[in-house]
Amino acid sequence: MLVYMIEASEIQAGGARAKARCDELGAFPYSDQAHGLFRPYLSPAHRETLGRLAQWMDDAGMSVETDAVGNIIGHYAGRTPDAPVLLIGSHVDSVRDGGRYDGMLGVMLGIEAVGHFHRHNQRFPFALEVIGFGDEEGSRFSTYMMGSRSAAGLTQTIDDSVTDRDGVTLHDALASWGLSTTRFKTAKRDNVLAYVEAHIEQAPHLERAALPLGLVRGIASQYRYRVTLGGQAAHAGTAMHERRDALAAAAEAISAIEAIGCAGPDDLVTTVGCLTVENGAPNVVPGLVVMTVDIRAVTPGVREDAAGQILKTLEAISHKRGVTLAVEQVQDLQGALCNEALNLTLRDAIIETTGKAPPVLLSQAGHDAMIMAHLAPMTMLFIRCEGGISHNPAEAVNSEDVEAAHRTLVNFITRVGEER
Ligand SMILES: [Zn+2]
Repeated sequence: MLVYMIEASEIQAGGARAKARCDELGAFPYSDQAHGLFRPYLSPAHRETLGRLAQWMDDAGMSVETDAVGNIIGHYAGRTPDAPVLLIGSHVDSVRDGGRYDGMLGVMLGIEAVGHFHRHNQRFPFALEVIGFGDEEGSRFSTYMMGSRSAAGLTQTIDDSVTDRDGVTLHDALASWGLSTTRFKTAKRDNVLAYVEAHIEQAPHLERAALPLGLVRGIASQYRYRVTLGGQAAHAGTAMHERRDALAAAAEAISAIEAIGCAGPDDLVTTVGCLTVENGAPNVVPGLVVMTVDIRAVTPGVREDAAGQILKTLEAISHKRGVTLAVEQVQDLQGALCNEALNLTLRDAIIETTGKAPPVLLSQAGHDAMIMAHLAPMTMLFIRCEGGISHNPAEAVNSEDVEAAHRTLVNFITRVGEER
């Protein structure tokens, strides 16, 4: 078991520091907006943030580098130079008007865990690396998880001509940092033993269960479609039986898609989030409707089954109502299941901290961990957040929960070390 007793005051200080540092990074110069937080990829705020993180990583006994995609990596050597690496990561970018803990808290907890071992002069049969991914949210370019995709070696198809809302291309933004997509493949991490990510829950399950920490079973796979229903625009005086109303067809489709989500397994969710009526007017029977369909599930196969049912239902509605149907898939994001052995170790670490078995949660939101699962076995720790609210300045965590997460991560790493 633990080779030394961990001082409560030391853990308390580590948790408090992790939270305080997230708060410090929530404002200028670590934010690109005057009030609140916006830290997009390759922005001045991103650069300032990496400078601050590098100081903290250095203080925690790590050597620091920034890789070819703008991820920051702190390295704490293992007992031998060729030891594999236990990666602890999350993202440092934020959405516009975002919260201070989404992503950043996981990076801070990584730094605190390494700092803890550094102070105790403890080395493992593996190196520890803390990685802060530069682009997870895709809040600047229409990209997503470029940081972790590069670290996992999955970046063959990145289009660097995409622009941000000011018309700056990804190519030019990278060039201003001396970077280029042609070098992204050099960001692939080698010899990785496992990846662990701590993240706020972004849902209210832990709050409802009155528990600080949860174990993640898996991260949902996502499909996104653009569905176009074409009827016939006509005067609102047209007899009911003579209409081919695209919006009425869409209404029937939306209800059916919701019903398929409700009837499926617990981890299935289906959403129509956007609906556009072309040339809509009060006195016109709608002729053309475009809508989005988002389908998510954690259990392999569930998303695919639901997509099949939804497509069949759309075809039946289109046939019955005499409207045309076009379905275009715009996203296919593969989810991931957490590694069972790592989850058992993390579960034990949570029990050691809280005295209670953690709930096993499903993540409907995407995380870098789902990408890193392509590279190495992966596990995730969820931390209670107030009201389950995130991507919002109101995002909040309480100090005791951060402290519990810090202790759990220290316990987890120690246990992985004992298992090897
Ligand atoms: Zn996040």
